[in-house]
Amino acid sequence: MRPTINAFTVDLEDWYHVCGVDACSDPATWASYERRITGSTAKILSLLRRYGVKATFFVLGYIAANEPALIKEIAGEGHELATHGFFHRRVYEMSEMEFDADIGRSIEAISTITKAPVLGFRAPEWSIRRANFWAFDVLRRHGIEYDSSLVPMSFMGCRDYPRLPVKLQTRYGEIVEFPLTTARLFHENVPFSGGLPLRIAPYFYVLSKIQSMNRRGIPAVVYTHPWEFDTAQPKLNLPLSRRFMHYFNIGVTGRKVEGLLKRLPFAPMKDVVTAYFS
Ligand SMILES: [Zn+2]
Repeated sequence: MRPTINAFTVDLEDWYHVCGVDACSDPATWASYERRITGSTAKILSLLRRYGVKATFFVLGYIAANEPALIKEIAGEGHELATHGFFHRRVYEMSEMEFDADIGRSIEAISTITKAPVLGFRAPEWSIRRANFWAFDVLRRHGIEYDSSLVPMSFMGCRDYPRLPVKLQTRYGEIVEFPLTTARLFHENVPFSGGLPLRIAPYFYVLSKIQSMNRRGIPAVVYTHPWEFDTAQPKLNLPLSRRFMHYFNIGVTGRKVEGLLKRLPFAPMKDVVTAYFS
């Protein structure tokens, strides 16, 4: 039996791309923020190089449009470039037409630089909800082959969402859903493999949980953001819950991610999806 490989993913956005906060939700103000993404992404690229891992970068179209050299560098190192939307807007806050325009613009911005098709999507803040499942039709129509936006958890998504990669039917053909990896805990599905959950969860718990999934043939998705590698970033004036989500324990991200890169097999999500269904 082939060993199970996990998806290593990066949501490529800058330190001020925070959903639901008035102060940073207007793209017209974004040019006034210091651009820190090249420096913070360099830390991730260097770790990936050190451990020979190829990853998937879910790129914000706005970043592609403003940092084409960075996008070229990431693609040049053999990583997959997928989309995180253009303006970092939650899917459930957009109409179908607005989402269609945002996705189209992001794919255009990325593929103009890479000259390659964009196959994957991750919604800002995992924001596809059952009421917005029209998003899968829109994505598939734009040529997207897999989505990684569903959280099978009451708090952010729905506990009944699939916990393993699954093929969904759309009006334009099948699309693969690779949901956020979760563990069963007290009748709830709890995330642990990226972002704040990874910063909170004990490292050896995360490692052994993924290893035990892999032994059963189940791939995990690990995710991070460049700003989680930037302990010197300016602090936004966020509401308390957002401040916790964004900044808590940020200093441990690099060490935990490095440990996982060193000990687990990873590949870009498009390859993990292909292997899972072959
Ligand atoms: Zn994001």
